[in-house]
Amino acid sequence: MALYIKPPKGNIDFNKLCDFVKRRIIFLSYLREKSVEDITRGIQQEIFACCSECLIEGSLKDRISHFVLRLLCSTDSEMRSFFIQSETSLFMYRLQFYELSDIRRIMINAAKKCFKVCKESFVIRSYKSILMSLMMIAEDLNSDLKEESIKVPYTSVLKFVEERTFPLEYGYVKVPLDSLKLLLTVVFEEILVQGLNQIKASNCVQVLKDSRIQYMQQEIQRLFKTNLSSSVSISSTLLEEHLDQESKNFPLCMVNLHNLLRSNHRLQHTSRVQYILYLKEIGVPCQEVINLFMKEYSIPVINKQICNSKTCDHSWADSQNRYIYSIEHLYGNRGSRKNYRAHSCNALQNSGNSSDGGCPYACFDDKNLEKVLSSCSFEVKDIEDIKLLSSTKEYAKACQTNLLMKIKRKAAEINVDKERSNTHHNKMLNCPKNCSCPEVNSKTSVPTSILDSDRQIFLNNFLCKLSKPSHFYFFMKNFKPGVVDG
Ligand code: SF4
Repeated sequence: MALYIKPPKGNIDFNKLCDFVKRRIIFLSYLREKSVEDITRGIQQEIFACCSECLIEGSLKDRISHFVLRLLCSTDSEMRSFFIQSETSLFMYRLQFYELSDIRRIMINAAKKCFKVCKESFVIRSYKSILMSLMMIAEDLNSDLKEESIKVPYTSVLKFVEERTFPLEYGYVKVPLDSLKLLLTVVFEEILVQGLNQIKASNCVQVLKDSRIQYMQQEIQRLFKTNLSSSVSISSTLLEEHLDQESKNFPLCMVNLHNLLRSNHRLQHTSRVQYILYLKEIGVPCQEVINLFMKEYSIPVINKQICNSKTCDHSWADSQNRYIYSIEHLYGNRGSRKNYRAHSCNALQNSGNSSDGGCPYACFDDKNLEKVLSSCSFEVKDIEDIKLLSSTKEYAKACQTNLLMKIKRKAAEINVDKERSNTHHNKMLNCPKNCSCPEVNSKTSVPTSILDSDRQIFLNNFLCKLSKPSHFYFFMKNFKPGVVDG
């Protein structure tokens, strides 16, 4: 039962090091989404005979490959998540072969290592806290265990708290002894998470600048992208810094939440969940969402910024673990690993009156709806049209009208660009006004009145089929006026 508390010391040939790490990532990729039976079969059939040497549990090669891979995965959100999931699966697989007496012995040894690590001044609070929980478990296991249960601080086993798996008493979760393996798996996963945070917070990241390590990282990333990663291309990845610009394509419910987060630096719990699941669905990586909330929640709030009393005033520093856990959980990377889907329009429209989340057309009062619409720079007449639709409960229609106005604006902007480009071209070639030479006319094919006749019917029919905020986003993002022109 390797818990990987302390990295090994010593020298190793660089080629061997690369080799061990590559073998580990190949094996870990096999583990992903495999059952214990499949893993056993794979090992028995010697599919991974080439990897076996560096996977002998607790051996020097096993520990070297684990810690170097941990370092190499620490700065990339996708690889980090892969590392946590697959190493936890490996731990779970190995754990099934251990008896209680073996576990007791290993835990005593691990507790000694944890004690040494915790004494180091560079160790961050969250990493120390999970190591201390491990020490507590070892101590309980070493006692006579009269109660047949183990007490663990709830912060180390949020999965149990969230799922109400075991009783919670005075900040401690009481885990029955027969669920010890489950407890160790949850704690091990947390050790990995905090171990990765420790790397990011320490000087270790400097090592990543070393050209040999960079070479190794590129190799690992190449292997990861070829064998494991989803087909999402890096260039199309939505990063935290793109979100302000990208929010122009969001429907009103989500642009409202984005703006509230940016201006108030906090969101109510339900609004936070709505927004995170939406971001997940439009392809924002988990780490970027963590970065977004870290950035905003690190900004202190003054009371008047929190216009709604339900909005929390916790800071990133005091609740960082809880927030990261909650985001990773919604992404299906922690806890029950459920693949939560974002809310539908119907669900958001029925989420009750609010001044924060939900569908603004259905959940906001007139004043608040007007405020949100004017912050998106709609004109008074347009705002009145939309308000009228929402007052007659035609929420979807109100949303479609809003989007059609945005489309109109987008087309008008392209038209202005086209005008500018034509003027420039005419000047350069000395063309007469209204010249019809092909160079000019091939530039764009934007319809001048995009909302006229057939195009309007086409758009209306299409928009009727959209039933989730993410659908509206993808439509807006991919909308090209020229396409509708055909
Ligand atoms: S209709 Fe749907 S997409 Fe539009 S604002 Fe309401 S919930 Fe959002």
